[in-house]
Amino acid sequence: MSSQRLLIRNGFVVSMDPDVGDVPSGDVLVEDGKIAEIGRNIEASEAEEVDAAGMIVMPGFVDTHRHTWQTPVRGVLPCCTLDHYFAVMLGSVGGHYRPEDVHIGNHAGALEALNGGVTTLLDWSHINNTPDHSDAAIQGLKDAGIRAIYAHGVPTGGEWWAFSELEHPEDIRRIRDTYFSSDDGLITLALAARAPGNSNFEVAKHDWELARDLGIRISVHVGMRLTDIHVHHVKNIHDLGLMGPDTTYIHCTDSTDEELDLIKETGGTASVAPYVEMLMGHGPPPTGKLLQRGVPVSLSVDVVSSVPGEMFTQMRTALVFERIGAFTDTPDEAFAPTLTHREVLELATIEGARACALQDKVGSLAPGKQADIVLLKTNAINTAPMVDPIGTIVVFADTSNVDSVFVAGRAVKRNGELVNVDLDDVIRKLDESRNHILSHGELLPNWAAEPVAAA
Ligand SMILES: [Zn+2]
Repeated sequence: MSSQRLLIRNGFVVSMDPDVGDVPSGDVLVEDGKIAEIGRNIEASEAEEVDAAGMIVMPGFVDTHRHTWQTPVRGVLPCCTLDHYFAVMLGSVGGHYRPEDVHIGNHAGALEALNGGVTTLLDWSHINNTPDHSDAAIQGLKDAGIRAIYAHGVPTGGEWWAFSELEHPEDIRRIRDTYFSSDDGLITLALAARAPGNSNFEVAKHDWELARDLGIRISVHVGMRLTDIHVHHVKNIHDLGLMGPDTTYIHCTDSTDEELDLIKETGGTASVAPYVEMLMGHGPPPTGKLLQRGVPVSLSVDVVSSVPGEMFTQMRTALVFERIGAFTDTPDEAFAPTLTHREVLELATIEGARACALQDKVGSLAPGKQADIVLLKTNAINTAPMVDPIGTIVVFADTSNVDSVFVAGRAVKRNGELVNVDLDDVIRKLDESRNHILSHGELLPNWAAEPVAAA
């Protein structure tokens, strides 16, 4: 953590904090990794200055669910169904991962997230085939310098997923003791749980109790549409008496209205991954249905085996899908969509933080919060001229506009480049890892089977 002061000068501050609001030609003063002041013409002695003219200054994005370990097999299933994904990724590909594959997956995946302005990542890690795999996953996140929630899941393999009789690995207790004795670090621990239906009900009870015994949050996939499978995950969790405000429900795409009500009543949060849900057929993204009930909704990437690893795509997909949902049956009824651009940006920032119970630390720019800050170029050919900064972020910007990224005041990207990263080395390791993993499953294209060129 830098003890130096950092003064971000003369940007358009989109704080996402109701008290701070938007500040044109604004400054942000950072001290000891935290935001000290936001305003105009801030005077600060001995501060390193960052010129943000022609840029939006905004909170980093929060991605509340990504299986970061899949980075070495990016794009292996660009256009699959959920049935196919389960069979290939969890049934086969994951079994070929070595610890070093998990490490480079998490390292490169976290760098990819940072490069796109994601400063907080919930790594939903169900690749814990051995304790070495878990250690490698955590090390990969650490090496990237990202703020993360390491959500420890089960090993890969089908035996863990259909009314499984296998309890969540006890190794999570070692991980808690070894890496997460405090909950104040840049990386914190959660339990990536299987819903009752994925595991049998006794196992689900065991797993929920395990998380609560460890004092950590729970993240769980629910309501995904799979062929011939009819399981009401949320109802099951409710019937077992396990629902609570410490749980984030991912997808909820096939959940009933009653189940969505139960999430609201028990104080849970949601993670919607609209691109993958529409691509693979999980069901319609329930963003609007959840928001109408007052359930906090966040956004997530899920899998880079099929989905771009940044949040601009997620915001735009969530937005336009809600508008399709607001279509009327007849032109005699006016089209009156309700979800706004600002609300979508909230889902990708402060609501993401809320879903991880980090809303007091990150997700918006305000004095006292962690300095997780993104500078987004507005003087680029795809963003200029700026009229509405929220529209610029949600509609026009992409990763090429992410000029600078700070995590707890530490620069991880400056002037469009990741800081202190040997990208050639990272990419060489990704190629090697891809070749190792996919050569086992006959998924490696012939052209990629050539020896990896020396960097
Ligand atoms: Zn997922």
